[in-house]
Amino acid sequence: MGIRLRLTLYYTTLLALLVALVGWGVHALVARLLARDVDRSLQLIARQVNEAAGRGLPDPSSLTLIPDPASGAVFLGEFVQIFDVQGSPRGVAGKRPRLPVPAEALSRALRGVADVRTVASADGRERIRLLTAPLVDGRRVTGVMQIGVSLAPAEVTLARLATALALGCAAALVVAAVGGYWLAGVALRPIDAMVSAASSISHTDLSRRLPEPPYRDELARLAQTFNAMIARLEEAFARLDRFAADASHELRTPLTILRGEVDLALRHPRTPEEYREVLASNRDEIDRMATIVDQLLLLARAEKGQLVLAREPVRLDRLVEETVRQWRDLAVQSGLTLVLEPPPPLVVLGDELRLRELLLNLLENARKYTPAGGRITVRLAADEAARVARISVEDTGVGIPADSVPRLFDPFFRADAARARDAGGSGLGLTLVKRIADLHGGSVTVDSEVGKGTRFTVSLPLAEAPAPV
Ligand code: ADP
Repeated sequence: MGIRLRLTLYYTTLLALLVALVGWGVHALVARLLARDVDRSLQLIARQVNEAAGRGLPDPSSLTLIPDPASGAVFLGEFVQIFDVQGSPRGVAGKRPRLPVPAEALSRALRGVADVRTVASADGRERIRLLTAPLVDGRRVTGVMQIGVSLAPAEVTLARLATALALGCAAALVVAAVGGYWLAGVALRPIDAMVSAASSISHTDLSRRLPEPPYRDELARLAQTFNAMIARLEEAFARLDRFAADASHELRTPLTILRGEVDLALRHPRTPEEYREVLASNRDEIDRMATIVDQLLLLARAEKGQLVLAREPVRLDRLVEETVRQWRDLAVQSGLTLVLEPPPPLVVLGDELRLRELLLNLLENARKYTPAGGRITVRLAADEAARVARISVEDTGVGIPADSVPRLFDPFFRADAARARDAGGSGLGLTLVKRIADLHGGSVTVDSEVGKGTRFTVSLPLAEAPAPV
């Protein structure tokens, strides 16, 4: 069952209950008022009869009983009987058959106590409200009067009211149900529009959006939320497409070089020495591809959240000292001065292997982009206020243009493509550096000036535990 039908059903059921309750209330109220008016009429007639009795036992047929709307006595006393003190009937008024005479009521009236009850008429066709009351002269009971008012007019009025209420309520319910169904349809129309738009959106066409209703209501918020989600998906798919294109391009270059070298070698017979040279060059390209593939795999695992890092206390100062020591020869071979400022003992929680990889990437970059004669400075310091350890690698190299900085950490991005490729970079190094820093809850910043040098700073949260020895 659709929401529209369900809403209408709930709403109509609730309304039916309410209308029934109100109808029942109105009917009960009118019934009470009518009963009260009948009893008032009885009392008024009794008073008139009693006044007449002051002049001796009245002959009922001589009584003129006038209804008095002002006092609420609107019902005519159609039956009046008078009894003497012995209880024998003295006379009857009205055209109707005699009233039934409940013996018990009669004897009570003779003892001076009035009695009101509802009885069936002699022919049993109608119900009669019957007052049996003493006629008194001063404090003396001089007889008994019996006054009856037919309940038939009140009952007819009530029956008509019930019919009118039932018909009115039924009509109101039909109108409410139809109107409710229509209103629900109007309110839900934007959802239909969203459903048909959403079903036409596929991963090949993520530029489409759901229509947003003009009002700032829940449905508009729903549409906006969906649209924001589609925008994120679109962005993610675009990134994935770029990544795949860049990755294949990246692998194709070494393959083309390999192919070229092999073709050239095969063109003429060569000496074993020449073949060895070609194979050595081939191995360089193969190494390069292997590095790219390794880094790609690592990034893919990090992207999927599958890269599980160890979380062990790592003495950052020792890690930096060791890495710099092992790497010093490479720097010297490239004609660079490598300076390590003596680091203070610092502990972070993390993965030692990955942190070493991070530092090596920064050192490699500094070496690749700094001409011979330059200088690389490595520092480690604690920022106690921010509770982080800061490792910085500074060089006096070519620098990075300011407009390249925002994209520096994107996969395969290179500030100076030709130079970077010559230097043997894959364009994935900084992406990995940032990933590793992120996974440690840290961050990477860069300060650079073209022609002067670059400084990369990695901040890692300090371990809360005291430093192990
Ligand atoms: P690559 O493997 O090409 O070095 P990275 O992701 O490590 O890739 O670096 C991205 C780009 O950032 C590099 O191509 C280079 O243009 C620039 N870059 C990185 N480090 C430095 C640096 N220390 N000095 C100047 N440019 C740098």
